[in-house]
Amino acid sequence: MREVDMCVVGLGPTGRALAHRAMRAGMTVAAVDPRPDRLWSPTYACWADELPPWLPATVIATRIPRPTIWTTTHHRVNRQYCVLSKPELHAALPLDNVLVVAGRATHIEPHRVELADRTTITATTVFDARGLTSPGRRRTASAHGIFVDADLAAPMIDDGDGLLMDWRPDNGAGPKEPPSFLYAMPLGDGTVVFEETSLGLAGGMPQRELRRRTLNRLVAHGIRLTGTERSEAAHYPLDQPPPKHGAGQVIPFGSRGGMMNPATGYSVADSLAMADTAVAALQEGSDPIAALWPWRTRLVHWMRTRGLWGLGRLTTEQSIAAFDSFFNTSPRGQRAVLSTRDDYATLGAVLVDTVAHTWPFHWRFDFIGWTNRNRWTDYPFSQLPTSTARPQH
Ligand SMILES: Cc1cc2nc3c(=O)[nH]c(=O)nc-3n(C[C@H](O)[C@H](O)[C@H](O)COP(=O)(O)OP(=O)(O)OC[C@H]3O[C@@H](n4cnc5c(N)ncnc54)[C@H](O)[C@@H]3O)c2cc1C
Repeated sequence: MREVDMCVVGLGPTGRALAHRAMRAGMTVAAVDPRPDRLWSPTYACWADELPPWLPATVIATRIPRPTIWTTTHHRVNRQYCVLSKPELHAALPLDNVLVVAGRATHIEPHRVELADRTTITATTVFDARGLTSPGRRRTASAHGIFVDADLAAPMIDDGDGLLMDWRPDNGAGPKEPPSFLYAMPLGDGTVVFEETSLGLAGGMPQRELRRRTLNRLVAHGIRLTGTERSEAAHYPLDQPPPKHGAGQVIPFGSRGGMMNPATGYSVADSLAMADTAVAALQEGSDPIAALWPWRTRLVHWMRTRGLWGLGRLTTEQSIAAFDSFFNTSPRGQRAVLSTRDDYATLGAVLVDTVAHTWPFHWRFDFIGWTNRNRWTDYPFSQLPTSTARPQH
């Protein structure tokens, strides 16, 4: 006799959404987390159209109608981007009829979860939503964010604007150093986060270096900090694979389950949207892994991972050229990389097109890994200066 239909291990945004939607669908659900009521610490954002329709509009803290990209020129993306309100998202995923257990899972099996205090929960299906482990030398997303009062941020971020990617040469990094860009978004609470971000380096970029680069950007734009600003750190792997085929196993879900887009480092909106697919599969008696991961979606994940490997070996100059080409592709092409789970044909065309438009010609070999395959591997970040440098124009 099982105690519950479903046990979800981990109550990050994705585990909580899954437990909530299963409960709403009439299933008996247990959920385990060491601190089940804790509000998540990272700032989450996504494209507004990625959110599932069952979420109330209140989960959106701020909307950016046409976010800005700076490569060598200024681009606008004609697609609404949004920053989520963590308290509202938490409140929109109530677990009132879920058996919530505060504890750390130590053994997770297909029908049984054991906690550190030896409590066990038996379930017809067990989902593992414990998030990602430390990246080690894997391809990594690293970021250092500084929360700046919106009035102070005004020289760079106007009302209603947001910088999705800023590749202007203001971060003090030289052309022979690993690339990074600035992400700067109003959060809807009177602050703007300025976050220098690195995507795809093996082992990532150290926080100290990212902070130095963020501070250089702020100085370059005349933004003076008070010294009391909060900061946040991101450092997680981008190459988490999808689960293997096969029914009757523990089902990894959310970032743990390959739902992190390797090309962007985003997983929250996709995982929220996929919760109902997993629940529907269980209710129909079919395999949730097969429902979540049809071959087209696996192929898209594989192609994005190839793109991530290419990205992680580019110089700043090459990255700028690649993103310039990318943000000139069609809206459908952009979505195939950024969001859509199964548009493999468009995604393939965008990747080929990006390489084909890379100039000078020999840069193409870097992209596909024939040359400079391990360009930034074991880069000696510790030898870079620790103080903020003069921005290079
Ligand atoms: C600073 C920062 C900014 C980010 N910004 C974005 C963004 O804008 N958009 C986006 O999509 N993604 C963003 N990400 C990525 C983000 O981490 C993940 O997308 C998101 O948190 C994944 O959610 P999750 O529920 O899968 O895992 P997590 O949020 O990592 O949650 C895992 C949960 O499992 C619990 N757990 C762990 N081990 C156990 C155990 N043994 N037993 C029980 N419970 C356990 C943890 O306590 C935690 O509550 C950002 C990450 C960081 C760090």
